[in-house]
Amino acid sequence: MAIVSMNSLLRQAQQHRYMVGYFESWNLESLLAVVDAAEHTRSPVIIGFNGGFLDNPERSVKENIYHYGALGITVAREAGIPICLLMNEAAHPSTLLRAIQAGFNAIMYAGSHDTPEELLETTRYLVRTAHACSVAVEAEAGTLPWADGHGGLAENGRATDPDEASAFVKETSVDALAVSVGNVHVLEGSTVSLDWELLAHIHRKVSVPLVLHGGTGIDRHALREAAGYGVAKVNVGTLLKRACLDSWSEIFRTPGRLEDDPHALLGGGGKQDMNRLARERMAEKVANFMEDLGSTGKA
Ligand SMILES: [Zn+2]
Repeated sequence: MAIVSMNSLLRQAQQHRYMVGYFESWNLESLLAVVDAAEHTRSPVIIGFNGGFLDNPERSVKENIYHYGALGITVAREAGIPICLLMNEAAHPSTLLRAIQAGFNAIMYAGSHDTPEELLETTRYLVRTAHACSVAVEAEAGTLPWADGHGGLAENGRATDPDEASAFVKETSVDALAVSVGNVHVLEGSTVSLDWELLAHIHRKVSVPLVLHGGTGIDRHALREAAGYGVAKVNVGTLLKRACLDSWSEIFRTPGRLEDDPHALLGGGGKQDMNRLARERMAEKVANFMEDLGSTGKA
């Protein structure tokens, strides 16, 4: 199936009151796990990678965005469900320009450390360039807090201001807007409830589809309600990495297991293959999440 625009995926979702998941991958198995889940549940889906990780200057080996683009496009074309390919939260505009060249059809700039003027200028520039290439742009208004992994916060966020958000969308023509309404990045092990009043206020003021990042840490029962508040996309990352690590951890903790035939453990593809087992575990978690988004059966 051809790659599908984020705008058409999100418009459909808004019309029919469900949400599309963006499930963030980092390698082939995690990417295929998302597509397995989407095909199994007949869900439209947004696949992709985290630009902030890929363009992190502290990475010991420099990553080539084109490898990730080729991977994403090939997987999307072969899949039997509508897929959009997102380069999420890159900290450098140049990463996003390369992502567009590499075939990503949606981008998001992480400009939370910019001044409001810088953010406006960079976002406008990216929107002009991206739209000329039929690529959608997501932006964030306000900032999400970051969980520290020990029940606290590594960074405090700033809640989205509805008037600011509305002005930002009008001035930049972004296609979707991520909002900070109680949701927390990389939160796991506990859940937060959303500020519904604030979300409703933003929804009244902002014309484009809204996005919730930090999907792993949002109370799943409440999450279903968000579609009624203009939310059309939910970002999920931590859930996949935890599922992968849990699966590997079981293997590592099984006595004697790592002494088995290395080809059976890696690359053989049979019952003992660590990557195969992780892929299955991730796909299961993603499929469950899709149920809560209401996207199952909508492909
Ligand atoms: Zn995010």
